[in-house]
Amino acid sequence: MPPQLLPRVLKLAPYVPGLSIEEIRQKYNLAQVIKLASNENPLGASPLAQKAIATHAAMAFRYPRGGNPRLARKLAEANDVGADRVIIGNGSDEIIDLLIRTLVDPEKHNLVCCRPCFSIYPIQGAICGVEVRRVPLNVDFSFDFASLLAAADANTRLVFLTTPDNPSGYCPPREEIVQFARKLAKKAPDALLVLDEAYMDFAEGGFPPVGTLPENVGVLRTFSKSYGLAGLRVGYAILPPAIADGLWRCRLPFSVNILAEEAALAALDDTAFREATISTVKSGRERISLGLQALSCAVCPSSANFIMFRLPDGHDAGQCFQYLLERGLIIRPLKSYDLPDHLRVSIGAPAENEAFLTAMASFLSREGKT
Ligand SMILES: *Cc1c(COP(=O)(O)O)cnc(C)c1O
Repeated sequence: MPPQLLPRVLKLAPYVPGLSIEEIRQKYNLAQVIKLASNENPLGASPLAQKAIATHAAMAFRYPRGGNPRLARKLAEANDVGADRVIIGNGSDEIIDLLIRTLVDPEKHNLVCCRPCFSIYPIQGAICGVEVRRVPLNVDFSFDFASLLAAADANTRLVFLTTPDNPSGYCPPREEIVQFARKLAKKAPDALLVLDEAYMDFAEGGFPPVGTLPENVGVLRTFSKSYGLAGLRVGYAILPPAIADGLWRCRLPFSVNILAEEAALAALDDTAFREATISTVKSGRERISLGLQALSCAVCPSSANFIMFRLPDGHDAGQCFQYLLERGLIIRPLKSYDLPDHLRVSIGAPAENEAFLTAMASFLSREGKT
């Protein structure tokens, strides 16, 4: 008999990723599939990053340098903070896991996040066996700061907020976040407020420098979205120096591989690609938002590279998802986020956005609907 898994592992609900293009192409025998399910970059990968990968391919036999010092230094300069505050990970997912493992004692502490929220926070919390306190969002999907504060106590070590939020696209004003951080510092003096800023580049007006945030705040960033490197897995965080140091010591020494590091370094210099991405997303977001509203859908205002929406009364979100899937369009049902009546679509290239809106119009006007 093999050994029994831990009870908390047996109970675990797995992360539900978006479906892959190849899966759907084969299953429905389609020539072309458009994926608007995982908030990937509509323009592909940064061309400078692609070139860097090709240039450094022959270095694949070497181990990366421990601590990714060149990338850490460059990120520190770009954000005007000390390099001792930067930790780089195999996607921001790895950093979320490290934060929980290094800060939260399963015997004593808890972490606080929203319901619904990006599912990695509660899933990694459960894997680590820590108490996860979920605080429902307001009905308009904004954060319920009063209840978040009420949920936190002297044993709270982490509070996760996603700004802009996934899956709603909501982004609170920065002053509200700062005010919340100050109140949190009093109520839960040992808690770090982690702002997951995976989608910050798509918010209007930009974000103020990290250095201006209160001391109990850390930020999480990723190369997966505006830099188009989701498949390479690079994310980073800017944290209080002592916490960043602890994470480095717990991180597997080579979790960010040599090609990913070179690609990330090059992507940081690819201003043209990043600007083209942001402008493609902003104009596509406007187009999809207006297009869905014209089809009588309820659209959540979004500061991210996706839009969450609800169908007009009498239409079923699950059926809509399936209808689009069979026609080669993958979007994201939100059942795993406890939002069975909502759907999320990533902003694509202009032709992809049009194909999505055309399919939506045809779903909503089809004969024999139930
Ligand atoms: C996409 C996304 C990330 C990025 O994760 P990586 O592991 O860096 O790819 C982080 N947080 C949220 C909320 C996301 O939606």
